[in-house]
Order: sequence, then C-alpha cells, then structure tokens
Amino acid sequence: MRIVLLGPPGAGKGTQAKSISNRYSIPHISTGDIFRKNISEQTPLGIEAKKHIDKGHLVPDDLTIDIVKDRLSQRDCDKGFLLDGFPRTVRQAEALEEFLSSKGKKLNTALLIDVPRDFILERMTGRRVCPACGASYHIKFNPPAIEGRCDLCGTDIIQRKDDKESTVKERLDVYDSQTQPLIDYYKSKDLLSVVYGTKAINEVFESICNILGSDRNGNN
Ligand code: ADP
Ligand code: ADP
Ligand code: ZN
Repeated sequence: MRIVLLGPPGAGKGTQAKSISNRYSIPHISTGDIFRKNISEQTPLGIEAKKHIDKGHLVPDDLTIDIVKDRLSQRDCDKGFLLDGFPRTVRQAEALEEFLSSKGKKLNTALLIDVPRDFILERMTGRRVCPACGASYHIKFNPPAIEGRCDLCGTDIIQRKDDKESTVKERLDVYDSQTQPLIDYYKSKDLLSVVYGTKAINEVFESICNILGSDRNGNN
C-alpha cells in the first residue's frame, strides 16, 4: 500500500502515521523527522534545512525531492510506504508521481486529515515530541504515561522550536498557499480520501482504517 498523508500542521499526521505504519506494516517516512535528525547530527543537509524550518518556511523542493527519492529507493519500501509531510507542494507531488511511474507503481490513496484552523494553535503549542523516535504527544490531549518521558523509548520529550505561536502562524500561511492546492491535485486524480481529524485520536484512526480496508499485506 502506498499512501500519502495530507493535512495542515497539527492535523495529527504524525500521530496517526505511527498507528497506520504498525497496522499495515509499511514504513513511516516523515520528511520533518528526517530533517530534524539531520539537524541534531549537524549534517550539511541539517544545517541547510534548519535555516528554512526555523522561519516556518519550506525546505527547497529540489533538496526535499532528492531525499525522498533516496528513501523510497530503499528495500523496505518495496512493500509500500506511508509518506507523512511529503508532498507539500505541487512540484513535489509531480516528482513523486514521476518517480513511482518510472518504477511502474502508483499511489493508492492521498489521505487528508481535515482539521479546522480553530483547533490547530492549541494542538501545536501543546505538542511535545520525542527527539529519539519522533513520537508526538500533547500536554492535554495525549500526555505520556510518565510525565515528560516518551512511552515508546523512555527519552525525555521536548517542545519543537518551530511550535512557538509566531512560527506556527507562518507555517499555516505556507500551508494555505503551497500545500492546500494538493487537495485539488489529488481530487482531480481521483486519489483523495478525507477523514475528520477533530475526534479523539483512536476514533480518527478507526475512520482511517475504514478507508484503507482490512488488508494488512498491502494488496488492496
Ligand atoms: P508538521 O508537524 O507541521 O506537519 P513536519 O514535521 O512535517 O511539520 O515539518 C517540519 C518542517 O520541516 C516544515 O515546517 C518544513 O520547514 C520542513 N518540511 C517537512 N517536510 C517538508 C517538505 N515536504 N517540503 C519542504 N519542507 C518540508
Ligand atoms: P502533524 O504531524 O499533522 O503536525 P501531530 O500528529 O504531531 O500532527 O499532532 C499535533 C498535536 O496534536 C500533537 O500534540 C498531538 O498529540 C495532538 N493530536 C493529534 N491528534 C489529535 C486528536 N485527534 N485530538 C487531539 N489532539 C490530537
Ligand atoms: Zn521515543
């Protein structure tokens, strides 16, 4: 199964991606996580990406597309993948389509997690993440079992620098202008599915599974 997750920052893409990836046994590929790992390791990619991320802007398309192609070329993606946070521009979507079609493959679904603006600021400013495994928590809506510690790996969770209110506002503007057009792009290709992301985390997951179906081997 080859899936892309769409939705504004804070929609719950990362949260749902972890569960989808487990349920359907496909790798979860988050461009944001890849950039953050490179930033923490101070690689040349990380140093370049950080300049853009800290301002709430997108990392340039060429750089981002190369990274995703590299990742999708790894063996574990043969059985499918779940892209979270990519594509974010029409150019990225076109590059993905070309890359897949050169391998005789195509996407199964572009799944939009739809969340109105009013919910987003509270979600983003209350978000805490695990710097080691990328798990996402919320101080009110999804706290870890032990305060301040990742449930999955025990690492101390942190607040992302780009989750402060002023950067969040910039990111939402970037979403509206550059990423929102992907909804029509995938609609026109008959690949768009929509779930409402305002319900509880497990209810959203249930809606997603209803759309993706019960096949765990990626054959549908
Ligand atoms: P969010 O949780 O808001 O969806 P992500 O973790 O996906 O955020 O991304 C964090 C930041 O990394 C983005 O604001 C952007 O600067 C950069 N980034 C992630 N994915 C992409 C992409 N596909 N294209 C360009 N920049 C990206
Ligand atoms: P994205 O990857 O789309 O930016 P996240 O999965 O990181 O979003 O979720 C953003 C924040 O909202 C996190 O703090 C997360 O715990 C919380 N969250 C995710 N889904 C829900 C939900 N259905 N209800 C309430 N809070 C949620
Ligand atoms: Zn963790």
